[in-house]
Amino acid sequence: MDRADSTLVGQVVNKAFEVFQGDKSDTQRWCPLCGGFEQTGFNQYSVSPWRIVACANCDFVYLANPVTYRDLEVDQAWEANTQRENQRRQRERPVLNRLSKGTRFRLKLGPSKPNRFRIIFKQGRVLDVGCGTGNSLPSSIVPFGIEISRHLAKKADESFRKIGGRCVQADAISGIRQFADRHFNGILLHSFLEHETNPLPLLVEAQRVLDEKGVVYVRVPNFSSVNRRVMGHNWCGFRYPDHVNYFTSDTLRRMARLSGFDMHLLNWGNLIFDDNIKVVLKKAR
Ligand SMILES: [Zn+2]
Repeated sequence: MDRADSTLVGQVVNKAFEVFQGDKSDTQRWCPLCGGFEQTGFNQYSVSPWRIVACANCDFVYLANPVTYRDLEVDQAWEANTQRENQRRQRERPVLNRLSKGTRFRLKLGPSKPNRFRIIFKQGRVLDVGCGTGNSLPSSIVPFGIEISRHLAKKADESFRKIGGRCVQADAISGIRQFADRHFNGILLHSFLEHETNPLPLLVEAQRVLDEKGVVYVRVPNFSSVNRRVMGHNWCGFRYPDHVNYFTSDTLRRMARLSGFDMHLLNWGNLIFDDNIKVVLKKAR
């Protein structure tokens, strides 16, 4: 990382820390990638009161007025918002929604999450950030988790402790700060970074707690997908106000590099048609 990059990361991390301390994230948000303040509105994608904007400096697309970490513990917890979001989708596009529910079996085609992640995480300690009830990790590893929803964190903790791990109930940054340097052999950020108000500071912390040979698996919605252009604000990647960052492979790579990672794109062959970006991060050499 050169000196300009390290100054930039320091600025973004400090701003994130101010927001985290003061719970001011519902009033204003800096660009999570470059710390810039100038924004262009994306009115066609905003659903009142939620404002989607693009950074005028680096083009990163994000939600300008996310809810606070405190609200995510109960009132705006993932499980509560999922119910509200499903109701919105049913209201705005009943036919498509029914079709999607009627063909839900397609999501179960292919290997389960633990089987998919067995290829990436073979053994050792693995941290699942935003672990929900904690059923994503393969049985060959020692599971750890961070989960902000009190209800879900309790369930995950009970199941992880039986096999030597544990789950911390906290926002991701406070949670990951509780672990020592190089503590983990793997970190799972599956459908998580799009939810995190401060993704760059989180990746910096992930770099710190990861073993030299460890890997991070990241999956986020793909803002560059053809489907987003076709479906507009009805694209499945928009969730209000759950999703606060809208990555392209380019902005994800820039953020990974600033955090000290090399990014390896897994679904490069069909990326433009895929609603998700799937990558493995390794510590930069
Ligand atoms: Zn920016």
